[in-house]
Parts: sequence; structure tokens; C-alpha cells
Amino acid sequence: MTNFTNFRFETDADGIALATWDMPGRSMNVITPEVMGELEQIIKTVAGDEAIKGCVITSGKEAFSGGADLTMLQGLGAEYARLAKEKGEEAAMQFFFDESRKLSLLYRRLETCGKPFAAAVHGVCLGGAFELALACHFRVLSDVDSTRVGLPEVKVGLFPGAGGTQRVARLMQTGDALQMLFKGEQIRPLMARNMGLVHAVAPRDGIVQAAKDWIKGGGSAVAPWDQKGYKLPSNKVYSAAGMQIWPPANAIYRRETQDNYPAIRAILESVYQGLQLPMDLALKVESRWFAKILRSKEAAAMIRTLFISMQDLNKGARRPKDVPPTSLKKVGVIGAGFMGASVAYVTANAGLEVVLIDRDVEAAEKGKAHSHKLMSDQIMKGRAKTADRDALLARITASADYGDLKDCDLVIEAVFEDPKVKAEVIQKVEASIRPDCIFASNTSTLPISGLAQQSKKPDQFIGIHFFSPVEKMMLVEIILGKETGDKALATALDYVRLIKKTPIVVNDSRGFFANRCVLAYILEGHLMLTEGVPAPMIEQAGKQAGMPVGPLSLNDEVGVDLGLKILRATKAQLGDAAIIPEQEQLLATLVEKEGRFGRKNRKGFYDYPEGAPKRLWPGLKDLQVNPAAELIDMDELKQRLLVTQALEAARTVEEGVVTDPREADVGSILGFGFAPYTGGALSYIDFMGAKVFVELCQRLQAKHGDRFTPPKLLLDMAASGETFYGRAAAKKAA
Ligand code: NAD
Repeated sequence: MTNFTNFRFETDADGIALATWDMPGRSMNVITPEVMGELEQIIKTVAGDEAIKGCVITSGKEAFSGGADLTMLQGLGAEYARLAKEKGEEAAMQFFFDESRKLSLLYRRLETCGKPFAAAVHGVCLGGAFELALACHFRVLSDVDSTRVGLPEVKVGLFPGAGGTQRVARLMQTGDALQMLFKGEQIRPLMARNMGLVHAVAPRDGIVQAAKDWIKGGGSAVAPWDQKGYKLPSNKVYSAAGMQIWPPANAIYRRETQDNYPAIRAILESVYQGLQLPMDLALKVESRWFAKILRSKEAAAMIRTLFISMQDLNKGARRPKDVPPTSLKKVGVIGAGFMGASVAYVTANAGLEVVLIDRDVEAAEKGKAHSHKLMSDQIMKGRAKTADRDALLARITASADYGDLKDCDLVIEAVFEDPKVKAEVIQKVEASIRPDCIFASNTSTLPISGLAQQSKKPDQFIGIHFFSPVEKMMLVEIILGKETGDKALATALDYVRLIKKTPIVVNDSRGFFANRCVLAYILEGHLMLTEGVPAPMIEQAGKQAGMPVGPLSLNDEVGVDLGLKILRATKAQLGDAAIIPEQEQLLATLVEKEGRFGRKNRKGFYDYPEGAPKRLWPGLKDLQVNPAAELIDMDELKQRLLVTQALEAARTVEEGVVTDPREADVGSILGFGFAPYTGGALSYIDFMGAKVFVELCQRLQAKHGDRFTPPKLLLDMAASGETFYGRAAAKKAA
């Protein structure tokens, strides 16, 4: 048995080697330079030893591997910058190209070493790890539900650059391959086999044997595409069949990405060019695109926010270090309405006990029935068993008796958004809970410090703000009141971690963080409409800017009446200058005159006819107070929609609401879908540079009004050349 640091390597009596990937001190295998070095040794050993017939690669951990260590790729960028300075751009680029294709060449060596390799995969096998499996001549997956394969690189602005685009496109129809590569989804075992991505599915403890049996049975060491007479699944690119594929593929790419994602474009190019070349050249083409994409600002921004920062936040970057781990077992949820019922479900789904309370038992039971429905849907889809539903429902106690809260570790209230109702609930809860129990409010508009005044223990009072739909939305905003203590924060963060969502921690302020930016986006849509911009153009500008939905659609989802209510409350509290009269007039007409509340009454900015797609309400054109501008600049519309949100995010930093740029960036993408290719609302400014951003704001201010006035913080940053991340790093170092 030869021993490596990251692999156990042994050969059995049949001469079949088994390389078990099991990195010391890590819960998950990742591809690092050391792993690559050892894999190279393994390939050499297998190829060079006549007694070895072939090799099976498997994992010694619960999962196969999550892929490459992205910090390794980030390091390449730094090295590029150093070399460019020292030796010039060309030498730097050559170095970058050579380094960034090492993994691709290593996998190609494995594929062409002359001995058969098989991958025996259990658990997740993603990105560079799945590309390793794709380079093996045979792949078998465990039939366990948690096993997943896939190439999710596009989700962080990259694409599979170690042969993934070429091998997938040679395994299945081009249209299917492009779809898989564009989406980056994780694929379940049976689906993977049906798609032709893997050869077999076997019970977990039988995968290594199945792989060995394949080698013993004379499995070929030549990949299909290296065999004579190999034909592409969709025929040649320049063929009648190819002509059916490529024009629509371009159109689908545009529709799905609005041309905002260079990595997805690189997939299209790599597959298109690669399929016209033999494998080694095709891999070289893929590598060229990979090097280009690896240096793109979109990749840098997305890796930072959606991989590194998100992981940091999930691991508790903001958790107070000196509070020992809490052991949450039981959570009370007060208010079993729209939000409370869902909070109860996600909590019970994480294995916690839940006491779900409403004004009477019937209302509480109705809230619990939501969990029954969600679990029944899961059963229908084959994703859960009846026993899972029974167990989950057994964890939820529906009640109207506050006495049932006596041994809760945390109580979350989601009752009506009315300070009086909340005050009464706070007092009733506090009379029933243990002295160390933490109290959280899910309010979306009421200041936490104000609510905490109703509490006898404001240091144990905190905001845990969910987004709807709770089951889908991955972000949770945690709001610190003036007196909130560390134990409350630690408990809230531990809870969010248990329910597997991503937390951001913000200081108390009107609208907290996410809703402030969302309201700015919706306001801009309203004002464009009153300016005479045609409604379809406004919606299109939102989507082209990279938002998941246009501002008018979004307003319909949250409720046009809610928009008017918030606007009126703002006006009452902060005065007339705090609102824009054109917006009030627009919303008042829609809600009070036309009875258009949004999707909930099937009438908002859109009409929602039964059984047909929604369509913009034709009456909108009568609400356009100004005549249509003669020349509407689409690029400016797109800029306005992003700039207004980024400006609001910058204001939250200036006001000390958000204290860590990672939270604003992660929060903006997970909370309201801020154009992910930018890396988030603050990265949008950082990557453009504060100076350019301030100039852009000033141009928009001159044309569209003072809401575009850049705050002093941005003027200072523009003068000093600082970035949000630079400031945060300097503050940490100080
Ligand atoms: P909802 O009206 O659907 O539910 C409120 C529930 O509280 C009802 O079931 C009601 O019977 C119950 N309730 C009222 N008074 C009570 C009392 N004294 N004791 C026990 N139960 C009582 O409202 P919702 O949309 O679920 O909102 C609840 C809270 O969540 C609000 O604070 C709201 O601001 C916040 N919130 C809502 C959303 C959203 O999208 N709807 C998003 C984030 C936060």
C-alpha cells in the first residue's frame, strides 16, 4: 500500500488499484495543488506498473468532493498582477494560461494514460470533482438520495474549465448539454444515468465493487471520443442538424442571461468551437476561454460574494466569539398566519420542536396544516416518506395556551404588524417563558428598539426578519436593537444556521437593509411610468439590468396597497419632503380609485386572467402624467434601476445600519436578487470605482432629481479612491 497525504492507495489481488480520496483535517475533499500533485503520481503509478490493471477512485468521506478550492484560483489573479508589473502583460498571460489549465491537462493525462479509470461516487460530486469523474472511463453513483453530480461553476461566474464543457457536450445532445452547463444544477443519481452522464447506479456499499467489476470485465481505457468512428450525439456543428441547434441556442442564451454573464457566453463559444475539433484541441479552446473568464470582473465579484462571503456568513462570521454554543431544542412561534406557519415549518424541518400559537386553537391548527400540505407535496414528488411527514408534524404543537412556551429556548413572533398587538404579545410571552429565553420579532417595518421598550429584558430582544416565501428565500436579516445583547445575537445566528439559511446582521433602522433597497427599485419603476416610459420597457429594463423581475411585477407581488401604506406611514412620520408626490398620486389612484392591490386580487400593474399569463394593465397609459419622452435611453433606464438600489445600500453603510460590505452584497443578491453578476449592491460600486459611480449619480441627479444625490461617504471615497472592501479591511486591521 502506497500512502499519500490525501489519498489511500492500495492494489487488490486482482491487480485493481483503489485510490481513496480522504483529506486529513477536512470534512470535505477539495482540489488543491497538493491533491493535483498526488493524483499525478497515482496516474503515473497505475500507467507504469504492469501488475496494475486499472484504478478506481472513490472518497473516504461522507461526500465525494465539492470541487476546486476557489481561493487557489483567486491566488492566480494576484500572481498575474505581480507578473504583469514585473515582466509585462504577455508573460503574465502565458503564466496565467498555463497555470489555469493544469487541472484540464491532468485529467486528460488520466483519460489517455492507457489504463482504465473508474469513479465510484457517493454524496455530492461537483465542479472540478465531477470533471475528474467525467475524465474517468466509467462512472458509478450510489443510489442514495443525497448523492448529486453537477457543474455549478456558472453560479460563481465561472464555467467548467477542466474538460467539463467538452465531455458533457460529447455525452449528450447539444441542446441538453448546453442547458445543463448553463444552469449548473445538481443532478440526482437516476436522472444522471438517464442523461448519460454516468454509466451505473448501485447501492452505496456496492459502488467500489461495481467499478472494480467493470475494470475486471475488460473495461476500455479509451474514451468514446478517442475511439475510431466516434460520432457526435447531435452530429456535426455544420450539418443540417447543427443548424437546428445553434441559432436557437444563441437566442436562448440571450433570453436567459441578457448577455450579462460572460461565463455562460464562454460555455456557448467553447462548445461551439470545441465540437468542431479533436479532443486535445477542443480542450485548449476551453482553456483559453477559462483563462479569460477567470480574469473577468464578474467572476471576481461572484466568487467573492456568492462563495467566500456567503460561506463566511454561514459559518458565523458575525457571531460573538465569547458566547458558548447554544443548544436550541424548542422554538415558540406566535402568530400562525402567512409568515408564522412557514417559520414553524422550516423550524420543524430542521429537527427542532415547535410550539405554534395563535389566538385560538383552530387558527393555530390552520397554520400547522401548512406543514402538512408542504410535506404531502414532497411525498407526491417522491422526496419524502409518510413517516417523515408524521415525524415533522409530531414536532409541532398547535396551541392557544402561552403556558406551552415554558421550556422554549427562543420565541419568534409573527403576529399582525400593529404595535399594540405586538406589545400585548410581548408581555404575554414574557410572563410564560424561562428567564434565559430569547425573544425575536419578525416585524418588517417597526423599529426593534421601539418594540423592545415593551420588553422587561431588552438585551434578550432581537429582530429575526424572514422573507417570503420563507421556504424558498435563503436570506434572514437579524436586527440589533439598541440594547440587544450578545447572547441574543448568538442565539439568533445559531438558529438561522440550524434552519440552513444565510444571516446578515444589521442595526435597527426604518426598513432595515433589504426593504430599503427594494423600495428604491420599485419607486424608480413608478416614476419612470409617470414620466411616460411605456410599462413594458420599464419591466424589460429591470430584467436587462439583471434583476429577476421588473419593478412593476415586484410591486404586484408585495402588494400595491402595502406600497401605499408604507408611503403614507413615512409621510406621517417624516413629513412631506420624505416622499415623492407623483408616486403617492400613482399609488392612490391604483389602490383607492381602481381597486388594484396586486396579484392578491388579480389586479395590479398587471391583470391576472384565470388560466392565462399575466399581462400589463392597458389602463396604465392613462396614469402617465407626462407625455412620453421622444427618445428613451434604455441604458439609462437600466442604470437608474441599479444605481438607485446601490445608492440606498451605500446610505445604509453611511448610517451604520450595515457594518460589513459582505452582508450588503450577500443580502442584496439573496434578499432581492440584485443583479448577481455584479457581486451585489456594494460590489457594483466598488468594481465601477466610487469616482465613476459618483459621476454617474450626479448626471442622474441633474436629470431626475435629488434622490440620486450621492451621500458624503461616496464623495469621500471618490476623492480618496477607497472601496467598501478596502475600508472594511483597513478597519479590521486597525
Ligand atoms: P398574517 O395576518 O398572515 O398573520 C398574522 C397572524 O397572527 C394571524 O394568524 C393572527 O390570527 C395572528 N395573531 C394576531 N394577533 C395575535 C395575538 N394577539 N396572539 C396570537 N396570534 C395573533 O400576517 P403575516 O403576513 O404573516 O405577517 C406577520 C408578521 O410578519 C408581521 O409583523 C409582518 O410585518 C411580518 N412580515 C411579513 C412578511 C410578508 O411578506 N407577509 C414578510 C416579512 C415579515
